Amino acid sequence: MTKSKSLEKYYTYIYIGILLFILIHLELSKLVENINKISLSLVITIIGLITMVVKLFILEKGLLEKGKIYILLKIAELFVASFFIYYEQEVNIIGALIYVLTLLEIFSFNNELKFMLYYFSPIIITGILMLGKEFFTYYIIINTIFIILLDIFIIYIVQCILKDIIEKKEEVSKLLEQEKEKNKQLIEIKKHIEKSNKELERQKEEMRKTRDSFRNSVAELFILKETSSYIGSILEIQQLLELVCDMIMGIMGVDSCSIIVYNEKDSSLDFHVKSIYSKEVIENFKAKGWSSYLREKMKNKEILIDNNVDPNKYSFLEGRKVGSFVAVPLRKGNTSYGLILAEHSLENYFSTSSTDLFKAVSMQVAMAIENAKLYEKMEEIAEKDGLTNIYNRLYLQKIMPKLVEDAKKNNTPISVAIFDIDHFKKFNDTYGHIFGDEVLKAVANLAKKKLEAYGGIIARYGGEEFFMIFPNLGIKEVADIVEELRQEIENIELKKQNIKAKITASFGVSGYPEIADNYTELIRTADDAMYCSKNRGRNCVTIAPINVKCNL
Ligand code: GH3
Ligand code: MG
Ligand code: MG
Repeated sequence: MTKSKSLEKYYTYIYIGILLFILIHLELSKLVENINKISLSLVITIIGLITMVVKLFILEKGLLEKGKIYILLKIAELFVASFFIYYEQEVNIIGALIYVLTLLEIFSFNNELKFMLYYFSPIIITGILMLGKEFFTYYIIINTIFIILLDIFIIYIVQCILKDIIEKKEEVSKLLEQEKEKNKQLIEIKKHIEKSNKELERQKEEMRKTRDSFRNSVAELFILKETSSYIGSILEIQQLLELVCDMIMGIMGVDSCSIIVYNEKDSSLDFHVKSIYSKEVIENFKAKGWSSYLREKMKNKEILIDNNVDPNKYSFLEGRKVGSFVAVPLRKGNTSYGLILAEHSLENYFSTSSTDLFKAVSMQVAMAIENAKLYEKMEEIAEKDGLTNIYNRLYLQKIMPKLVEDAKKNNTPISVAIFDIDHFKKFNDTYGHIFGDEVLKAVANLAKKKLEAYGGIIARYGGEEFFMIFPNLGIKEVADIVEELRQEIENIELKKQNIKAKITASFGVSGYPEIADNYTELIRTADDAMYCSKNRGRNCVTIAPINVKCNL
């Protein structure tokens, strides 16, 4: 219901109240006054009440419009008011009140001039009523004019006040409207900003993804380029793996990168770890972190990514804060070389683009390991003697200078011994070359085993000559070991045609710092001592410097 309608309702309630009051008044007057007059007043009052009830009904139903019904109702109200003013002496004050209220009501809704007609309608009605009245007296005329003038005066003042109030109300409602409009606009702008923000967020996310993928592609290319170039230049696998770990840590920003290489020979594992964790944590990982789970994963071809790590699930992560990890098998063809393990403390750290990067890197690393292993094999072949499977002279020349240097640096002794099989030619001549080879193998084998117990190294120096190095041992100690070896060679049981071949050898021993100061000196003095043994009748040990009995 609008404001004007509810206002009108209040007015109607007031009218009904007044009319009911008149009704009671008339009923009381019935007892003492003229019956005819009262019955007419009664009829008018009832008509007024019915009119008001009808008006209320119309208002409730929302049928009241500023049209014909409205004007008819107003006229009925005025008629009731006029009647009470002029016809009934007893209730003319009440009639005047209704009249004033009616006019008030009219002016509270309208301030247009055409409604000014309402001011004059009571005069017209009064005039008609007065013409029909017998008591057209001076007193009533004066009374009537006074009341009408008072009405007009009050109405005018009220109209002025109402006009002002209405104007202010309009102004306020206009301001409210403007405010509403502004609010509406603000809401619109807010919505627009929200939409733009969402769009910006989406674009930002897209840019982040593009940047990540671009960064990964660049990183991938960089790692590939670096590893490829290093594969060619670094045959030392340790160096390469550490470099790859460094690159993965630097480019991927992981907390820890481990490359674990499987050693076929003894099923051992080599760890190359770069990490933000302390040495103790890394050592713990190396010592017991390597679970059967990872060993199993190493055999797989697939990359394993866990972006929401449950620490209880993986024992190999013990002691480290890991939210995500990726395990990449290092494979080349059907051979598995190990595994790359990268970890980060955050969850959901690794994406599909990281997988691509790891795939590419793991292939390169696997290739590098394969190359290094092949190189190692080649090196081994180049350093070993094909017949006896002990080191050759080449290897000896490679390590000797360094061993002597180390001994000098560490202030420790180093001793060497050379031995030559006595009358070896006769084995070849008597039993054939193959048997000669057997003798060489048997002697090499025996000497190698003997030396290993003392941390020594043996090499075939040439033909049937052997060279032995004993780091950290003094010349006397070595002379004793060599003497034992001489006896053991003598006891080798190698039979041909049921005849036991008698194998003996002549030895020469030298050492740093007692005899020689550098490795060439060591070899020369030991060689001289060995020849001295030959001269002494063979099958004996001579310690340099050569004793006087030697006839060189
Ligand atoms: P000595 O006691 O003075 O050392 O006499 P020797 O016979 O051992 O010395 P010599 O230098 O006269 O002979 C060495 C022989 O060793 C000559 C060579 O044919 C033989 N020989 C060298 N390398 C091999 C090899 O790989 N296999 C066999 N079967 N014989 C070899
Ligand atoms: Mg010989
Ligand atoms: Mg010889």
